[in-house]
Amino acid sequence: MELRGCVTLEKVLVTAAWPYINYLPHLGTLLPLLSADVIARYHRLKGEDVVFVSGSDEHGTPIEIEAIKQGISPRELSDRNHKVVSKLLKEYGISLDNYTRTESPIHKKFVIEHHLKIYRNGYIFTRIMELPYCSTCARFLPDRFVEGTCPYCGYEGARGDQCDSCGRLLDPTKLKNPHCTICGSTPTIRKVKHWFFDMPRFTDQLLKYIKSNKQLPDNARNFSLKMLEEGLKPRPITRDTKWGIPAPFKGAEDKTIYGWFENVLGYVSATIEYFIRKGEPDRWREFWFDKKAKTLFFIGKDNIPLHTLILP
Ligand SMILES: [Zn+2]
Ligand SMILES: [Zn+2]
Repeated sequence: MELRGCVTLEKVLVTAAWPYINYLPHLGTLLPLLSADVIARYHRLKGEDVVFVSGSDEHGTPIEIEAIKQGISPRELSDRNHKVVSKLLKEYGISLDNYTRTESPIHKKFVIEHHLKIYRNGYIFTRIMELPYCSTCARFLPDRFVEGTCPYCGYEGARGDQCDSCGRLLDPTKLKNPHCTICGSTPTIRKVKHWFFDMPRFTDQLLKYIKSNKQLPDNARNFSLKMLEEGLKPRPITRDTKWGIPAPFKGAEDKTIYGWFENVLGYVSATIEYFIRKGEPDRWREFWFDKKAKTLFFIGKDNIPLHTLILP
């Protein structure tokens, strides 16, 4: 039944958190997808214009490390796991319109263009950082490439970016007894240039957005307001790794874009990809720019700031 033309259908974009595929997902990974599936079906039954997207999140250090351990390339590992996950989702009958991946050429192109735009508009600056460097592996050790003892709780298996025991975000240079995850050597600290996103400049706009958005659940609103009150910090958006989307900034040719800043853009690129395949390459805009269009995110609690502060 074609209703378009006589009445305007409500547009609903349904999204679910992208599974990170360093390992094959467990049932818990399916939870946001399953909840999103129920809602997508409900809105379709109401006759609304629904697009339901998700995809495999495949960049970042956990996949790189797992691939090194298995003696294969990150691309081989993520190709293999993406295939299995896509098949699983089909077998579970999740009614996705597009299940894509962060290695999709459309996603990569969109992320690069988006970053160039914010770079040209002056929201990205460089700063010299101190980071652990392994001379045996001849590489910097971002995030999970370094492990050691947590300076807060004393947990011995803390990772460079976070302690799994006390949950604190960590500065990798503050780890006690640090060692390279790959070869076990003790790293030295080296200075290196990185590109930062100037988050604090968006504080007022974000405050207005969070306070006026009636659709946000209370916990998401309160959590985000608390973060804004505590003050946003500039966030490094580049990493010294080869696995990922190449950073498009002058002088950053050996770096990639940090996962947090590219994977949430996947919601947009997955919508673009879906409509390109349908032969309607501009219709994605109706779902992202039309003020009346709704977007429903099914995510875990720990992903709130990514969706309320970074994505907007
Ligand atoms: Zn700790
Ligand atoms: Zn090493």
